[in-house]
Amino acid sequence: MKVSDIDLLVKNAYVVTMDSQRRVINDGYIGIKNGVITEVGLIQDISPEVSAETVIDAHGALVHPGFIDTHIHLLYHNIRWANEDGVGWDTGALPIHGEYGSLLGQGLTEAVQDSDDIAEASIKLAALEMARNGTTCFLEAGGVSQGDLAAQCIEEIGIRGMLGGPFVKDISPDNPVSTPASLDEAVSNMGLELGRNTNPDSLVRGVVTISGMGSASDELLLAAKSMADEHGVIFNMHQSYWRGDAENDDLRLGRHPLVHYFDIGVLGENCTFSHVNIVRDDEMRPVIDSGMSISWCPIASMLYGVGGSIQGKHLELYKQGQNIALGCDSANWTSSFDVGEQAFIALLTAREKTEQSDALVAEDVFEMATINGAKAIGMSDTLGSLEVGKKADLVIRKSDLPESFPELDPIRSVIFSSRSRSVDTVIVDGQIIVKGACSTRVDEQEIFARSNEISQDVLERLDRSPPSGPWKRI
Ligand SMILES: [Zn+2]
Repeated sequence: MKVSDIDLLVKNAYVVTMDSQRRVINDGYIGIKNGVITEVGLIQDISPEVSAETVIDAHGALVHPGFIDTHIHLLYHNIRWANEDGVGWDTGALPIHGEYGSLLGQGLTEAVQDSDDIAEASIKLAALEMARNGTTCFLEAGGVSQGDLAAQCIEEIGIRGMLGGPFVKDISPDNPVSTPASLDEAVSNMGLELGRNTNPDSLVRGVVTISGMGSASDELLLAAKSMADEHGVIFNMHQSYWRGDAENDDLRLGRHPLVHYFDIGVLGENCTFSHVNIVRDDEMRPVIDSGMSISWCPIASMLYGVGGSIQGKHLELYKQGQNIALGCDSANWTSSFDVGEQAFIALLTAREKTEQSDALVAEDVFEMATINGAKAIGMSDTLGSLEVGKKADLVIRKSDLPESFPELDPIRSVIFSSRSRSVDTVIVDGQIIVKGACSTRVDEQEIFARSNEISQDVLERLDRSPPSGPWKRI
């Protein structure tokens, strides 16, 4: 194909392909047509007189597949940092994750889930944040009952999203604010977004998601796995976030949960469980033998001192070839919706835990943020690497940041020093959705103003004030 036949040419790029050979192409180019990568190679192989409709000169900057966030919740951006700092994740007066918090929190959860205005403001802010941080696709881990509204907001920002629908559960081990459904009711609320998959070009797709963390009977788990098998999608849930829910599972099941799930046939290659901060020795083999994926959310553990980065086996499983991807979780359970930051923190925690400076290197976490993420969301055929035939989802870094110089090790520069501040251009499905680090699609100021307005409105409705903190405010 001549380059003149393509829509978009990215040239003079340091291309990190993430293909099976992990090729890195200095002075590379990428050709894109109809949202698909049609060429990847050395710039010297392009004839100088040909041109594409749009040409982006990367000026030597690093270009990589878009990051994939394998665990997020869209609805809680309006209440980010609404609790006092230091409040526990399971005791806060406001829910930080939809499911947890006091009865007052439950009121807010219902308000968030029932109000289209609140949902829209949160989803747009969350999706914009992901886009600007170089995330091109995410997996929503449950809680969104307004699927059409969510899809509309996500498409407006221009990224890809995998939606799981509302929280689904049929038992409630220890959470007083949580109302379990009957098994039939739970099953009928499962897979509500799968209809989106009939359109192969849709940016927003559906997967099978249940709430998890001890809130599903064996029957519900098996129904979810079987629905995922039938529809060729992943089955996602939370699992073993902290010692407490893992121990609840132990008591309820009479053995460690991952051993039990493997034995009853729930685990498989299309299973992606989030957190999995507690893995006992006898749970290693079931996890490995099943070929399941784990969404490692290091900051979601560290922010509340849960201990997952110390007790977890993410590093050990990764070293044994397990598919470990990265996730941010929800607004109050992470620093920001920034997979690159999770990657950096994951690397640091692995080194600190093992007292080994090579426990993980930059290339390892780059893998977790891209190709492993694609596998974890069931999209490894189309996403996660820059290869001919794959969807054109990529990030072009800035070439003029102090943190990027000298250019001795561009991959380490991105993970260690320039991080998301070096995101310049983000392309999804061949469309430029972020340019010069700003959205090309939406009025960002409008989204920011709306976030403030809605957050005030939510606090007023609950007769609460913003957190006061330890310092005197005048
Ligand atoms: Zn979650």
